[in-house]
Amino acid sequence: MSQRRTAVVTGGGSGIGRAIAHRLASDGFAVAILDLNGEAAERVADEIRQKGDEAVAFGDVDVSDRAKVNAAVDKVRSSLGPVLVLVNNAGLTASDPFMKIGDDLWDRVVAVNLNGTFYCTQAVLPDMIEAKWGRIVNISSSSTHSGQPYMTHYVAAKSAVVGLTKSLALEFGPKGITVNTIPPGFVDTPMLRGSEEKGLLGGSVDEHAKRTPVRRAGRPEDIAAACAFLVSDEAGYITGQIIGVNGGRNT
Ligand code: NAP
Repeated sequence: MSQRRTAVVTGGGSGIGRAIAHRLASDGFAVAILDLNGEAAERVADEIRQKGDEAVAFGDVDVSDRAKVNAAVDKVRSSLGPVLVLVNNAGLTASDPFMKIGDDLWDRVVAVNLNGTFYCTQAVLPDMIEAKWGRIVNISSSSTHSGQPYMTHYVAAKSAVVGLTKSLALEFGPKGITVNTIPPGFVDTPMLRGSEEKGLLGGSVDEHAKRTPVRRAGRPEDIAAACAFLVSDEAGYITGQIIGVNGGRNT
């Protein structure tokens, strides 16, 4: 069994989750990558192991499926030990006129972005309670600061993640567990490039970067750096907070 603290990163096969998995592994965590996309998760775990750090991939894990989440977390425990850090990063974006959103689409967006966070958190909390130490970081979205046209389902689900974060922080603070959220803004990942290709950004990534106060798009590593701090021992007095990482696009 690993002597390192174990961290679960959902959606760790791509973009922001991949950068977080790399960063936490290089900071000394044993990282479990849970992702719908098994090949991508395996690829990232391989990259991390090639650097001499510790990572295991668990594919075909849909965070909106409680049974799959519980089964994956059981396997993480038996291979890497109790889970003391959870990064709820897996997310599903969507862009649809509000009046065209049917129940199935609404439910799917809520299921992945909100219910997934609920299921993963319930799956790992017993380990953190037992250890009297834990760190949870929920990746929400800068769209929760401002709202976003055509993304009512996504923004509603991510805003609920912010509320979940604050309430969890109050309930589990006395048990040594911190819970915070990072709402990323405009981070250059396959998700963002997919939205650019579909013409959903109202301009190119480069055009947006020129209008961003720090004059660039975000990098997945920017989110990973904030996450690495929030899961550290040093961040024990930070809980229930919204730590925006957005280049000044939202203040
Ligand atoms: P990404 O590149 O699309 O990566 C997301 C990863 O999560 C992919 O590997 C994806 O697998 C996986 N995933 C999707 N649905 C899943 C599910 N139901 N269960 C398990 N894994 C699932 O996206 P990203 O840009 O890095 O986004 C990461 C998080 O940041 C998301 O929560 C997103 O909403 C949030 N965010 C991103 C930005 C941004 O600017 N990029 C801004 C605000 C918020 P597949 O490839 O198979 O779908």
